[in-house]
Amino acid sequence: MPEKDIAARFPCENLTIGANGHLFFAGHDTVDLAKEYGTPLYLMDEARVRRNCRTYKAAFKVCYPEGSLPLYAGKANAFKQIYRIMGEEDMGIDVVSCGEIYTAKSAGFNMSRAFFHGNNKTDADIAYAMDAGVGVFVADNAEEVLAIEAEAAERGIAQRIVLRLTPGIDTHTYAAVNTGKVDSKFGAAIATGQAEAITRLALAQSHIELLGYHCHIGSQVFTEDVFERAAVIMIEFMADMRQKLGFTAKALNLGGGYGVRYTTDDPVLDIGEKIASVSATLKAACERAAFPVPQIFMEPGRSIVADAGLTLYTVGALKQIPGYKSYVSIDGGMPDNPRFALYGSRYTCLCANRITEDCDLTASLVGRCCESGDIIQENVPFPASVTRGDIVAVCTTGAYNYAMASNYNRLPRPATVMLTETGSYVAVKRETFEDLVHLDV
Ligand SMILES: *Cc1c(COP(=O)(O)O)cnc(C)c1O
Repeated sequence: MPEKDIAARFPCENLTIGANGHLFFAGHDTVDLAKEYGTPLYLMDEARVRRNCRTYKAAFKVCYPEGSLPLYAGKANAFKQIYRIMGEEDMGIDVVSCGEIYTAKSAGFNMSRAFFHGNNKTDADIAYAMDAGVGVFVADNAEEVLAIEAEAAERGIAQRIVLRLTPGIDTHTYAAVNTGKVDSKFGAAIATGQAEAITRLALAQSHIELLGYHCHIGSQVFTEDVFERAAVIMIEFMADMRQKLGFTAKALNLGGGYGVRYTTDDPVLDIGEKIASVSATLKAACERAAFPVPQIFMEPGRSIVADAGLTLYTVGALKQIPGYKSYVSIDGGMPDNPRFALYGSRYTCLCANRITEDCDLTASLVGRCCESGDIIQENVPFPASVTRGDIVAVCTTGAYNYAMASNYNRLPRPATVMLTETGSYVAVKRETFEDLVHLDV
C-alpha cells in the first residue's frame, strides 16, 4: 500500500511509518517497545502531553485575565508522573476524589492549584481535601455547602469555593457524558431558581469565600457553539446575581469537554482557535452586562492526554467463521479499555508489524475475557495475513483507558511507558499476580 494511503488512516500526528515497515509512535518503533516491555502496554507520548498543555496555556495567556488557568482533569488519566508533568507545565488540576488528591500530592503537586469536584463529597472527603490544602472546592449542592462550612469553621479558615451550575445546554453527545442539562445529577440549575438559592446559601456562610461558578456541559464535544452559549448564560447569570444580591463573581470555570480524534472521521479541533472564539463571545457578554471579565478556568482531560496515548497488544488468534464474522483475539480487552463496552466508542486499530500491507480482511478486535461484550472495536480492517504474535496498536487511548481499567478476570493491569525524545521510562509498573492478591486475607 502506498505510504500516503496508510498515513491517511492515522488519526494523530505522532504516528509514522518506519523504514522497517513498522508503526512508529512518538518516533519509537512500537514493535520494539512491545518486545522490550511486553503487552498489553499503554504508551504515552510525553512531548504530546506537554504540547497539549502549552496550547491551553498559550491561549489562556492571550485571551483571559491574570490568574486564569487551565486545569488538567486528572480523571482522564491519573498517575504520579502525569501530575509531575502538570506541575512542570504550570497547569492547575481538577481532582474528583481523595485518591486523586493523594496521587497528586505524592507527586509533589502544589494543591493550592487544585479544584475539587464531585456531586457527593463525604465529610471525610471534605476534611481530607482541606487538610491537603486543596485550593478551591467545586460545591455541587446545598448539603455540601453546609458540610464545607462546618469543616472550615472547625479549622478556623475561609474555604474558597465555586458553585457548580447547570446552564441548561444539551451537547447531543452520549447520555453518559452529557452533563449540562437541567435534568442532571450534577449542579444547581439556573432555570429552576436553584442556582440563585445556593448562591444565597453560600454567601450567608462565614467560613466560605465564594469565588464564582462552574459549569461542565459534556465531553467529546465538537458542536460549534455550546461553550459560547454556556459562557453567555453564565455571564448573564453572574450579572443577575450582582444586581439581585450585590455579589460580583470573580471566577468562572467553564469545565472540560473538547473532543479528540479517535478516527479520521472525527474533525480536527484547533483548541487555540476555539478558546479565542469563546473568549470573544464571553467578553462581548461581559460588555453588554457591564460586568468585569472574570478569571477563567477550564478543565480539559481528554484533549490533554488522549492523543498522547496508544495501547499495544499481541494477537493470539484469527478466527474466521465461514458465512459469519472474523475475530482477532488479543491479550488485553475490556479490563484495560472498557470504552467500547460502555459507550460503543470508536477507535483506530492498526496492525503495527504489518502496517504497509493491504487490509483485505474485516474483523472484530476482541479481548481475552470470559464475556462476549469484551470488544475493543468492530469492523476493523486487517491484513489477511494477521496471525498469532502480531502486534496490534489501538490509537488515542491516553484518556479514560488506564483510568477506567479493572482487574476483571483477575487480569493484571498493563504498565504505562512514557516515551520521550531521547528514550522511554516506566511511569506505572505492570501489575503482578502478587499485586492481585495483596489485599486478600
Ligand atoms: C469529565 C470532566 C472533565 C474533563 O472532561 P474531558 O472531556 O476529559 O475534557 C472536566 N470537568 C468535569 C467536571 C468533568 O466531569
